[in-house]
This record gives sequence, C-alpha cells and structure tokens, in this order.
Amino acid sequence: MSLLEANTTADARLGMRQRAEHLRRLVAAASGEVVQRVKSYMPAWVDPSVFVVAGDDAYPDSLGKLPDWVRAVTQRDMVLLFAERGPWLPGEVSRILCHELFHAATWTFLAQQAALPWWFNEAAADWVSTREFGVVARVDGVAQNAPSRRIQAGVIAEPSPLVRDFTAYLLGNFPPQAMQRFLQTVKASGDFEQAAAQVFDLWRFEDQRSHG
Ligand SMILES: [Zn+2]
Repeated sequence: MSLLEANTTADARLGMRQRAEHLRRLVAAASGEVVQRVKSYMPAWVDPSVFVVAGDDAYPDSLGKLPDWVRAVTQRDMVLLFAERGPWLPGEVSRILCHELFHAATWTFLAQQAALPWWFNEAAADWVSTREFGVVARVDGVAQNAPSRRIQAGVIAEPSPLVRDFTAYLLGNFPPQAMQRFLQTVKASGDFEQAAAQVFDLWRFEDQRSHG
C-alpha cells in the first residue's frame, strides 16, 4: 500500500498527510479480511496495488476531473482511495475497499475489462461489497443528490438504480462459487451474454413466459 501526495503548500500538505495516514491505517487493518472475502468470488488472485491519495491534485492526470461523490476508483489493477473525500469510517473502508478490489481483481483475471460490460462490473462490485459488508449509509448529502452519475473520464460509472436492482436480482443468493464460475466462463467464451445465460440460468425467464 502506498501514499500519493499532493503538490500543495506545506500546511495543507500536513493536514492531507494526517488524513491519509489515518485512512492508511484503517485500510491496513481491514485489508486482510477484505482480500479474503473478495478472493472467494475470484477464480484467481493477484494482489492489486492499493494507494491512499492525499489531496485532489495528486490524482493521476488520466482520471480527469472526478465528480464530488467519487471517493475511490480503480484503474486496471490499481485502487485509489481519496483521503480528502472522507469521512472514512471503518465500516465504509471495508465496503469501499471490497468494491474496488473486486474491480481490480476482475480486471486482472480477465486481462481486459471490456469483457465485462461496465454496468455489470459496477453492479456486481456493489452486490459483492454489500453482501459481504452490508449497506453503509452515505454520510455526505452530495453523494445522495448527485445530479449525474454518468461515465466520466471514461473510467467512472455507476449503473442506474434499476440496473443495480436487476443485477442484484439476477445474482440473487448465488454463492461466491457462482461468480467464480461466471468469470471463468466469460474468460473462456469471451461472451458476456452467453456466460450470463449459462451460469445464471437467464433463459428460465423465457421458459416461464413461453409456458404461460
Ligand atoms: Zn465501482
């Protein structure tokens, strides 16, 4: 785990560094358990890089301007947690870390994120993290009232509540092994829809409809 620092004045940097240190300690305390939980959904595991970022101007340029509600992102196998966008409570750290590690792990396993549609990737990360660590009430009203949650800078996306609910319904109470099998099937076939139909038994809906 590393710490990226902002290029600002000494005083501001000290405050950012303290917040980042605090978050880094929380992440260090939580990461063993969170990694174990995410691992149970993954066919293979390569440790992602987790960075605690102190200060908005320490963002990698490639991310562009992040919306206010974004507190963490994953680029490929690199997880970035933004210390200044707290408050970071222990329960939130576990859930958000779980969500981001899921993204990083699927990217590593599939080698190309394009194999998974972004909406499924987001909704599945949400499903896994909520299932493992429960729902944590958002503290910041900004996140609740964000007017737009569309793709930003090509990497930031959140599915609509409808898609999120649909995916959670689709995944239902499947055990972690179903996600492993699904990701293996996506990788083998390179076809998301075919894998989803096969593993999650999508066609049962068709069957029910055709039988009245
Ligand atoms: Zn996400």
